Amino acid sequence: MTRRSLSDAEARWALEMVRSGKMTQKQVAAMLGATPSRVNQLVNGRTYKHLHGTAGTRTSDGGIRYGLDETPERRLWREAKFWARVDRSGGAKACWPWIGGKPNHYGQTATGQGMTGSSLAHVVAFTLARRLRKAPDWALVLRHLCDYKPCCNPAHLKPGTVGENLADRWEAYREGRTGVRDVTEPVAAPPGGWNIAAGDLNVLDHLARVSEFHARVDSSAGPDACWPWIAKSRHRFGYGFMRFEGQNTVPAHRIAYVVAHGLTLADIRHQMILHKCTEDAYRNNCNNPAHLMAGTQAENIADKKTHGTMPSGERHHMGRRYSDSLIAELRERYWRPRGKRPTITALAAEIGASIGVVSRWLKGASRPGAGGPTGPGQ
Ligand SMILES: [Zn+2]
Ligand SMILES: [Zn+2]
Repeated sequence: MTRRSLSDAEARWALEMVRSGKMTQKQVAAMLGATPSRVNQLVNGRTYKHLHGTAGTRTSDGGIRYGLDETPERRLWREAKFWARVDRSGGAKACWPWIGGKPNHYGQTATGQGMTGSSLAHVVAFTLARRLRKAPDWALVLRHLCDYKPCCNPAHLKPGTVGENLADRWEAYREGRTGVRDVTEPVAAPPGGWNIAAGDLNVLDHLARVSEFHARVDSSAGPDACWPWIAKSRHRFGYGFMRFEGQNTVPAHRIAYVVAHGLTLADIRHQMILHKCTEDAYRNNCNNPAHLMAGTQAENIADKKTHGTMPSGERHHMGRRYSDSLIAELRERYWRPRGKRPTITALAAEIGASIGVVSRWLKGASRPGAGGPTGPGQ
């Protein structure tokens, strides 16, 4: 039953049979000698994506990128991630095998494909090491001077023609060579040397997040102005969010604060980050660290009182400690699709309120006028 994967023609036929109702998935599987799960994945579009019309929509540097441009720091992280899978321990002259590949096969890399358009590890290595924007054309054949397919050492990779490549293979065959060849004349490095990114991937990833944060904040109006979030990801209340330190949807002004003060999110876990901006337009959406301060919820209320922006609902006995905006924020964070929502317990712990109180706020049973959704899909 567990046969090879299906050919494109077989997969097309399977799709046609199942979609037209002529056969069940199980029957198709039996017919083709494939496992039912393979057919199921095919029908659901998880495999053979090119047959579903979704191929080519992936974003890559060679193709189209959507949204904000990739920052140089993110690019560095991606390249380092690729090179981390190349074993360079043998030194500059040795073969650099792709880690985890088969001895007689080219390495395969999805990371590299996003960057260069080729999923072949040695082609990606060639492209990155030479600072090319895209993998070379098909007509250009990369020859392994070492005859070792997993090798990603750019000094062992020589651009050639199909003819030269065939001649190489013929020569190897004639001489009865099967093993790895010593490279006596390595390819010379380009001016400036080979471009091989390296570093601690976690550190590089963090630097990339910080650079992405800055790219999403408009600070062009100067150090005294408010710095609004310009990316698409934002709450209805106006402030932006992004993934940071492994947490999803961290409010942007909290990131602004920790980045500016060299802190981590854990350091401000029990603190509110308050806006001091006088301009109301950006009051939730300002990410200028000079306009932000850490404080307790009580200070937040006091701050609002002095600014005269305290809504009347907050004068309720519970309202003395918890502002409408905080409750609205909790509701916004909670009423997301299942799997993405924090637990009530976690929210309650975060702001130091009881689970019962938070639960009533979320459902709108108390503080109904505080704003924000009080149920799913609102
Ligand atoms: Zn080699
Ligand atoms: Zn501001």
